[in-house]
Amino acid sequence: MSSPIITLANRVTNIKPSPTLAVNAKAKALKAAGADILNFSVGEPDFDTPPHVCAAGKKAIDEGFTRYTAVPGMPELREAVSQHLLREQGLSYSMDEIQIACGGKHGLYNMFQAVINPGDEVLIPTPYWVSYPPMVQLAGGTPVMVPLLEKDNFDLNPDILPLYASSKTRAIIINSPSNPTGSVFSVEALQAIAKMARENGWLIITDDIYDTITYMDTELPHILDIDSGLKEQTLILNGVSKSFAMTGWRIGWTAGPKHIIAAMNKIQGQSTSNPASISQKAALAALTGPQDFPKTMLKAFLPRRDFFVADLRSIEGVSCVNPNGAFYVFPNFSAYFGKSFNGKLINNSVDLADYFLDEAKVASVPGAAFGADDFVRFSFATSMDIIKDGMTRIKTALKNLRD
Ligand SMILES: *Cc1c(COP(=O)(O)O)cnc(C)c1O
Repeated sequence: MSSPIITLANRVTNIKPSPTLAVNAKAKALKAAGADILNFSVGEPDFDTPPHVCAAGKKAIDEGFTRYTAVPGMPELREAVSQHLLREQGLSYSMDEIQIACGGKHGLYNMFQAVINPGDEVLIPTPYWVSYPPMVQLAGGTPVMVPLLEKDNFDLNPDILPLYASSKTRAIIINSPSNPTGSVFSVEALQAIAKMARENGWLIITDDIYDTITYMDTELPHILDIDSGLKEQTLILNGVSKSFAMTGWRIGWTAGPKHIIAAMNKIQGQSTSNPASISQKAALAALTGPQDFPKTMLKAFLPRRDFFVADLRSIEGVSCVNPNGAFYVFPNFSAYFGKSFNGKLINNSVDLADYFLDEAKVASVPGAAFGADDFVRFSFATSMDIIKDGMTRIKTALKNLRD
């Protein structure tokens, strides 16, 4: 193959395309070609956006609310986010401490661009959400993976945190409940993070996108409940994608210190200007309307989680942490590595996810995408029937592997 005339920027050549989107694309292509694929790879609720939210979007169009808004997002929506943070978490943020972005992902992108210099290290608890390392890299920073162990239920072990910190550490990411593990950080883990962040002046980035989807009887611990004095060095990331089944609308927000939000607004002002006006009106309806929607989803998710975890645990050699939040199970299949099917060796999570897709017609995401190769992620944001059917196929596929 001849090399292209136009070469790419250095910053992009090191970045891998999102592996979750890649699996999803392959599964969709097979499905389009007529294969009976059961898809567990998708990272979004299997619910439609609530009707009153859709109506607000339609109304925005009909009323001609179709022009640019303020760069940080329309004032009414920032006010609604401020009220939401006060109501749900008892946190007080003014309008200039809040930015609305084109999805939670874009909010994270804006913040890394605003605070990270080349050489800065960002601590990323691992397994991690796929987008954190490349976003840090795109800002010139260095991701530093802090391992979370299955035997600790993927909670952060306070003792190991200092081993990964250095004089270059600038920030740490918290994602609790987590994608992909569904685990929630304990109060002890958050206390350890709070202590080190305070002593070393780290920025804390807390990705709270799954905070309405938890299965615990107790309240979800939050870093600012542990130490409210850390507010000046914390950025809260949240949005309506998961809580109101609004992934396609692309609305997320960041709350944090005024000077960082102002810097993020500079980045946004020269890139996307503002999130879609129509989507902002819809998000406003979500935040100011009835708040029972996430609970409706939870009711559906809970029995699916219980079945999925129990059925996975019934398979010989498979272990699975019971997720306390989000809508993913993250079983350990490493006992099956080294086995083969029709002479094809299964060496790692990518091989196994490929095997599940090709032979069982089940789409999942290999743990390697999240920096944890012993595991495979399945989303239970799909019907109970599909989960039962999928588990039957997976069990058969695993039985067909030979030593
Ligand atoms: C889904 C998700 C987000 C945000 O998604 P958007 O669709 O961009 O709002 C952020 N963090 C994690 C861990 C997620 O799973």
